[in-house]
Amino acid sequence: MDVLSQLRKGGFIAYFAGGCVRDQLLGLQPKDFDIATNATPKQVQEQFSNTQAVGAAFGVILVRRRQSVIEVATFRSDASYQDGRHPSAVHFSTPQEDAQRRDFTINGLFFDPLEDRVIDFVGGQADLSNHLLRAIGEADERFAEDHLRLLRAMRFASRFNLTIEPKTAEAIVRHAKSLIRISPERIAEELRMMLTPPTRAGAWPRLWEFGLLEPIFRFGPPPTAQNRKFNPARSIFLAVSPDDVIDFPLALAAGSLCYQSHESPANADFQMLLSDPFARKLVRAVRQSLKISNEETDRMEVILRGVGGLLQDAMPSVAQLKRFYAHPTAPDAIRLLLALQQMGVRADRIGWLRERFSELESVDCAPIPLISGEDLLAAGLSAGPQFKRILYEVYDAQLEGRVQDKSEAMGLALKLAGGH
Ligand code: ATP
Ligand code: MG
Repeated sequence: MDVLSQLRKGGFIAYFAGGCVRDQLLGLQPKDFDIATNATPKQVQEQFSNTQAVGAAFGVILVRRRQSVIEVATFRSDASYQDGRHPSAVHFSTPQEDAQRRDFTINGLFFDPLEDRVIDFVGGQADLSNHLLRAIGEADERFAEDHLRLLRAMRFASRFNLTIEPKTAEAIVRHAKSLIRISPERIAEELRMMLTPPTRAGAWPRLWEFGLLEPIFRFGPPPTAQNRKFNPARSIFLAVSPDDVIDFPLALAAGSLCYQSHESPANADFQMLLSDPFARKLVRAVRQSLKISNEETDRMEVILRGVGGLLQDAMPSVAQLKRFYAHPTAPDAIRLLLALQQMGVRADRIGWLRERFSELESVDCAPIPLISGEDLLAAGLSAGPQFKRILYEVYDAQLEGRVQDKSEAMGLALKLAGGH
């Protein structure tokens, strides 16, 4: 309000714009407040002492006030788009034109707090009260200019539980394939916002039915017309802790598994999908198509391979159970296991695993190793690739209580070294 009033005192038009107006009309607390004005970026900078020109070319100036950073953007219209994402030029214009360049009618509203008045050039208020997500202007053109809007549509529709208006929906299906031109990082950013909160229950079926998962994941056999119809009752993705916010690596682990199996959790399928080579391939494919960080990739991999390892035909060893349970991703991996069990995948095994996990709650599953590489060197062994294997096997023995102290551990290590 401070920033807005100051612009008004300077003789400029200034409105709240976009997401914050929408959120307030929905009775929700906005994440942030954006201001749109007819002051040019230069004039905005002259009005305030603490500013930063982040997107001066687009007319965006950040104004710092106390704890807040307010984005102040000059009314503009965007000239032709060239790379499927960014306008090649902008020119400063009127509130009406500024509303027209925004993506969806619910995001195209202004609010004048001094007159307590919504300024609506795009029919956003009516759509909001009818729970409709509608592209502003020609839907086909809007998705052709900026393909990221395809994902934004999914995100807003699921977050606010909106129906996608038919013309907008048809245009999304027509443009779905263009998503491959959007950078993996931007796609990942949208997916993170969409698939981690509980409203993912609305996002996932939409991504599936609008054909947006193929250009995102870019692997696996494409779904046929027959399995394109989403069946929520059979989706393990939706069965994963439905009421909770989940971490992105878990969302990706469950999501890629579902995508790959076309959501149909037949026992045999999942056992195959979760087999080690397959899980590795799945993780590699996701990392490539989303360029997620190494840390997130690792977490996703540990979840999938950990779960997969526990569901193969051979009964897991105590060491395997403890290693699994001690890993920081265990709570996430267990969420995935519970979802699989609920869907009837390896339900008996998962029931058995749950009993083991509750026993392990009171056990130290990650004791300090009895011996290290230095102990092996001190015993005269030469460093090499076998070190890692020996230490792994000795630690297994420690976890299973087959060696109790350092000398027993060294005895086993020397025996293992001698065997090669
Ligand atoms: P959120 O609460 O998720 O931040 P938001 O509506 O504020 O939602 P932002 O991405 O912060 O979304 O963008 C602010 C406003 O800018 C939007 O409300 C919309 O009017 C406009 N906008 C953002 N991205 C696009 C886009 N890709 N195409 C057209 N308009 C956009
Ligand atoms: Mg915003």
